[in-house]
Parts: sequence; structure tokens; C-alpha cells
Amino acid sequence: MDARSAIPVTLPRANPTISYWQEPPDPEIADYLSSKQVPEIADTVIIGSGITGTFVAWNLLQTPDHGKIVMLEARQACSGATGRNGGHTKGASYRSFHDNAHSIGTEEAIKIARLEYDNIKAVHAFAREHNIDCDLFSGDTVDIIYDQAQWDTGVKSIEAMRKAMPELLDTVAGYKIWSKEEAKEKFYAKGEECVGAISYEAGSLSAYKFVIGVLKMVVKSGLELFTNTPATKVEKREDGTWSVQTSRGVVIAKRVVLATNGYTGFLCEKFQGKIVPLRGQITAHRPGTNQPVSGLPTTYSFIYKNGYEYMIPRPQGTKYAGDIIMGGGLVMAKDEGLNEFGTTDDTTINEEISSYLTATTPRYFGSNWGDDHEDSRIRKQWTGIMGYSPDGFPFIGEVPGEKNLWMAASFQGHGMVLCFLCARALVAMMGGEEEKLASWFPEAFKVSEERLKKKFAGRLHTKHLDIETKP
Ligand SMILES: Cc1cc2nc3c(=O)[nH]c(=O)nc-3n(C[C@H](O)[C@H](O)[C@H](O)COP(=O)(O)OP(=O)(O)OC[C@H]3O[C@@H](n4cnc5c(N)ncnc54)[C@H](O)[C@@H]3O)c2cc1C
Repeated sequence: MDARSAIPVTLPRANPTISYWQEPPDPEIADYLSSKQVPEIADTVIIGSGITGTFVAWNLLQTPDHGKIVMLEARQACSGATGRNGGHTKGASYRSFHDNAHSIGTEEAIKIARLEYDNIKAVHAFAREHNIDCDLFSGDTVDIIYDQAQWDTGVKSIEAMRKAMPELLDTVAGYKIWSKEEAKEKFYAKGEECVGAISYEAGSLSAYKFVIGVLKMVVKSGLELFTNTPATKVEKREDGTWSVQTSRGVVIAKRVVLATNGYTGFLCEKFQGKIVPLRGQITAHRPGTNQPVSGLPTTYSFIYKNGYEYMIPRPQGTKYAGDIIMGGGLVMAKDEGLNEFGTTDDTTINEEISSYLTATTPRYFGSNWGDDHEDSRIRKQWTGIMGYSPDGFPFIGEVPGEKNLWMAASFQGHGMVLCFLCARALVAMMGGEEEKLASWFPEAFKVSEERLKKKFAGRLHTKHLDIETKP
């Protein structure tokens, strides 16, 4: 792992695989340029147009005297992790609660679980309130669990959550536990024999369509957006301002926000080896002939001894309704996926992961899968780059020792339940209102010198992937 985290982080690569959601790319905003060259000066430069950068922009635009805000994006708009993810708005907080309570205390663990739940609700509410067409599904998810130890830990963790937050039994800690027989009937899991199932509130959306919708709003409100414009260097100037070099000129800014997730180490050396890129892979399956005609009623995860898959059925009334988006399979690659760490190459797929993911649907659904669709099982597959930190938490705040260089990055495989509220928290910090965050924002998410000293202990701390720590 040391060798993988030492690989120099690069800029986002040219010609990435194209995700299901980006077909077609949005004609209005994908290649948007506010002008041919970047402006000479700006109040704030945001680097990155994923969900984080976009909501930093949205929140800044709500503040008085926000001045000129410029956003730089290396490739097309929203073409990083956000434009190529599973779109699962699923907290699965019980899977990390126990570890979090142990490592950072129960109070912080409760804050994280609440933030994840609140983030899901806030994203869904935002999409509805602003009428963003993003294939939103608000409903339940289910974890089908195949390993007894995973099951025991999960049930124990749910008990701990219920005890720690009795006032939130219907929301944050609102889990339902199902037997193996119930899992087969209610959730169609008639393939491999499971131990049982756990269901709870979650949802899904096209993160690409969602963020593109918000980008259109912020551009209308005055954001200057430069797509296909990589920031190649960020340097502090003697007068305390920042110079950002780009392929379309240099912009001098009072402050800069790195919303660059897995790519942060390229622009900010301090994060080389501290935010390690991890390539994730997804396959989109056409539904088998025995899948329910009205579509599956929940989203899914399939959890086994040392890993898991996540699965989102495309909601009724959307393009390719009934299709199944299946991501995961990392540990099935050579050396349990070690070579997927440290790479920023989303121009290719991993063939081993591809073969494994392709076989998952009939294996999990058994007779409820049936024959493959006449046009073949797989409609599309693609990859994307996440960012992982040694302690498994995002880095939010001002970069230590770098006044007016701000960041919100490293959301693991979990940004759809973190980024919206982390962007809000960052903008409060930038506005000098950090004390207002005390009641809800976890200290563990704030960037600090202390956290920058942490190293990956063996394999990544992959609590959201549930991979065992490997030397
Ligand atoms: C395959 C895959 C599946 C996933 N599935 C899920 C899921 O189902 N649910 C979930 O919660 N999370 C999921 N995630 C994680 C989630 O997508 C991320 O945590 C989240 O999108 C992070 O958003 P972001 O805006 O911080 O980063 P990104 O969306 O990666 O945005 C960063 C942007 O910065 C740009 N950039 C970087 N460097 C530069 C530079 N120097 N100059 C200009 N631009 C630059 C990049 O091009 C990119 O567009 C998944 C991720 C992947 C890759």
C-alpha cells in the first residue's frame, strides 16, 4: 500500500470512459466556457465541478458580497466521480457506527450518522424544491448479508445505535431486520444463500443530472464556469493572494477552494499520500426476464465476508427503467484490488472486476433473474476516481498553514451522503462562522495538522467498503 499511495497523483486524464449518465453529455453545460480566457482576478476560484464544488458555489452565492466566483474544471462539467458514480444516496451508517464510536467517541459517531441521514434528506429535498429532473427515487434500501460475522456485527451495531439515539429510532436508526426466508420473498434474493437482510431509508438519483441542474442555476446566478480548463498550479503570492495557473491564463484570487477529491495531491503536495485515488467500477445490466415487471422496489447492497456490491434499479418512468446499476467487486481483482489504489486512470476498465460484476445479477437473484435480455446482459461499463484518506474521513476546512486555501475533498465511496452538507459547512467556515457548526458538524471531518500526520495503516481504512485491513 505504501508503494501505491506514493504514486504521484496526476491531473484528470483525457478521454475517460463514458458513464451511463453522461450519454449524452448535457448540451448546454458540458463544455461551457464563460469566456475564452480566465479573468485576471477573482474573489474566489473553485477548482472542480463535481457535487462538492458545485454546492460550494451555490452556498457562496447565497452570501452577501460574495464577489466574483470562478469555477475551473479540467474536463467536461461534472466528469469526475460525481458524473460516473452509482447515485446511491445511502448512509449505511450502522456499518461504520461501531468503529466510529470506538475510534472517535459516541458523540462524534452520532454526529456522523445524523449528517449522513440529513444529507440524504437535504439532497432529495433540494432536487424536489428546485424541480431538477434527476431520476430521483426516495424510498428504502436493503442490505442482503451473506456472511455470519458481518451479520452479527451489523445487528450489534444497530442495537448500539438504537441505544445511543433513542429519539431517532424512526429516522437515523430506523432499521428493519429480515430473516433469510423473508429476504428471498420480499427482496427477490433467491440466488446464493444469505443470512438475512436489513432495510432502511435511502434513495438514488442521477448525480450527473442533479449536479448539471445545479450548475445551470449557479451559472445563471453569476458563477463564471470554465470547463476543459485544468488548473495546473496553485501558488501563494507575497501579498497573501493566490495565483492559479490554467490552460486559459492565470487568475489571481483572494481565496481558492480545492474541490478536487481524488486529484487533490496533484495541486497540493501536502495531500500526496494523504488522499489516495481509488478507481471504482460499475456495470449497467439490462433486466433479466424474471425480474419484476414493475421494477424492484428498493435499492440494494450485497455484503459478503471481505467486500460488497451496491445496486440501484433504474426507477420506473426513467430512461432504461428496470436496468440494474451494479458497482463494487474491488476485492475480486488481482491482489484483492490493490492496483486500483493510487491510479487516476479512468480511461479503461479492469477486466477481472468486469467479469465478476457481470456475473453478479443471476448469482444474487437466482430464479428471479431468468434469462438475459435479448440484447445481452451488459449495456455499459465504466470507471471513476474516488479519494481515500488514512482515517476514512473527508478533509474539510482551510489547508493547515495556507491561509485562504480551502478544501473539501476525500469523500471515499460515500460522497452522495456527505458532500452536500460538507460544502455548506465549508462555506460557513470561509465566512468565519465555524462556531455555528458545533452542534452538527463532526470535528473528525475538519482538516488539521494532526490528521495530515496520519499514515495508511497497511491497506486503506475502508470502512465503507468493508475490506479487511491488509498489510
Ligand atoms: C464508480 C464510482 C461509484 C460511486 N458510487 C457512489 C454511490 O453510489 N454513492 C455515493 O455516496 N458515492 C459514490 N461514489 C463516490 C462519490 O461519487 C464521490 O464521493 C463524490 O462524487 C465526490 O464528489 P466531489 O465533487 O468531491 O468530487 P468529483 O466529482 O470527483 O469532482 C472533482 C472534480 O475536480 C476536477 N479536477 C480535479 N483536479 C482538477 C484540476 N487540477 N483542475 C481542474 N479540475 C480538476 C475533476 O475533473 C472532477 O470533475 C462513487 C464513486 C465512483 C468513482
